[in-house]
Amino acid sequence: MQAKVSDECISCELCVETCPEVFEMGDSIARVTVDPIPPEHEGAVRKAAEDCPVSGIFIT
Ligand code: SF4
Repeated sequence: MQAKVSDECISCELCVETCPEVFEMGDSIARVTVDPIPPEHEGAVRKAAEDCPVSGIFIT
């Protein structure tokens, strides 16, 4: 699994709170710090993508 944050990100930090092992805040948008996503964090990344208020996290 891989995750990507789009430019639609509004810096709400919800994904960082949901899964700090994978997401961190960049200068203006969140960013993904690990590639690929470790299997033990896949569930949290899916939840972060579902909960993102602008649907700005894409999983492949
Ligand atoms: S949850 Fe979505 S809008 Fe909020 S910081 Fe993460 S990517 Fe950005």
